[in-house]
Amino acid sequence: MTQLTNMQVRDIEALVHPYTPQHRIREIGPLVVEKGHGVWITDSQGKEYIEGLSGLWCAGLGFSDEEMIEAGIEQLRKLPYYHLFGAKGYEPAIELAESLKEIAPIPISKVLFASSGSEANDTQIKLAWYYNNARGKPDKKKIISRVKAYHGVTVMTASLTGLPNNHIDFDLPVARVVHTDCPQYYRFGLEGETEAEFVARLAASLQALIEREGPETIAAFIAEPVMGAGGVIVPPDAYFAAIQPILAAHDILCISDEVICGFGRTGNWFGCETMGYTPHTISVAKQMTASYAPLSAVLLPQFMVDALDSQSAKIGTFGHGYTYGGHPLGCALGVKAIEIYKKRDVVGRVRAMAPLFAERIRRLEEHPLVGNGRSKGLIGGIELVADKATKKPFDPKLGVGGQVNAFLQNRGAILRAMGDTLGLCPPMIISEAELNELFDRLEGALNDGEDWVR
Ligand code: PLP
Repeated sequence: MTQLTNMQVRDIEALVHPYTPQHRIREIGPLVVEKGHGVWITDSQGKEYIEGLSGLWCAGLGFSDEEMIEAGIEQLRKLPYYHLFGAKGYEPAIELAESLKEIAPIPISKVLFASSGSEANDTQIKLAWYYNNARGKPDKKKIISRVKAYHGVTVMTASLTGLPNNHIDFDLPVARVVHTDCPQYYRFGLEGETEAEFVARLAASLQALIEREGPETIAAFIAEPVMGAGGVIVPPDAYFAAIQPILAAHDILCISDEVICGFGRTGNWFGCETMGYTPHTISVAKQMTASYAPLSAVLLPQFMVDALDSQSAKIGTFGHGYTYGGHPLGCALGVKAIEIYKKRDVVGRVRAMAPLFAERIRRLEEHPLVGNGRSKGLIGGIELVADKATKKPFDPKLGVGGQVNAFLQNRGAILRAMGDTLGLCPPMIISEAELNELFDRLEGALNDGEDWVR
């Protein structure tokens, strides 16, 4: 084990790190980050890394955009804090809501702000319940999510998340949440099953689940267009087209969780456009402000806004809101980020870089450790396996994904290991040379991993 620096010791003694094995923090040694520039970050000892995951799939403009910084400073000088409770407002929130309405892929009536992706999705569920109460369907309350989904970590959103580590010993999931199949053909397709048959099976399974639970008890279905933290799972092209009519037939709201996919990531403004479905309502966060400040939002159609009106008439007010929901700093940065995305044609840029990104992932599939590679726009993943022919996974106790990720960090690049899948989601401003450099370093780390594991 290398000697810990003073900064690392201070870190360990003061911080609980999320998604980190607490008992091994000394052995792992925290990476204390000091500054960022473009797609690069620098640690407290001066070592530089390419940030290949945009932090947490969110810093789409990299770490030093001057226009963003200026917009933030200007807003802090003018109005560092205010809120939207009790009929108060301020222009950055109004402007951002208008901007979101303009770029949304579905007709949006109004925008309800929060601070985090979890809060936005939590709000979605409360609103689905509120809406069904408003229209006299008090039993229609269950939410369908998917195995391997990631929707957050509040009590409700961790329940929607379909990953065991978010449930075990947190006493989750809560009631009213049901999970349906994960649309990953590579891992869950049956022996000899075509992709079309796989999609048909998942659609039939969803239909069966709805019938079993009773359609009159199901309020909503929530989905990420491309699943992120579950291991960058790109559903088959025909998947959403197959399940949407089933939801519609049973009067089930479709919530698109665009917390990662929104704002260009998949090569369109929104992931649902890329994956070909039409949700009723959308959650956004992360790249909305390029993560220069926390902010999330729920984009609401007219019929849900009508429900808020009628409930207010009945109850007296709309009893929901967060102190920092729609924070002026976040809103000013959101306005600026969207302006930059348009001005610099970030969507076009993602589309232009996507073929190189896909090609480098495809090349990684030739590596002995890599069983499967997948991507959409500038989000992708590689799944490491013990046996490429049989797709046999490694024993999770070996921690192969984590080890390859550690080798990569030594080589000066950051990705995220989700079990034995490594996620890639570089800032959307990454240059061709930087993207190639990231993949070269990843190839090196895979070779290190191959030497280590065999
Ligand atoms: N939804 C998706 C698709 C996410 O990827 C995340 C976080 O990664 C969340 C929701 C939760 O967002 P937050 O961590 O801001 O609460």
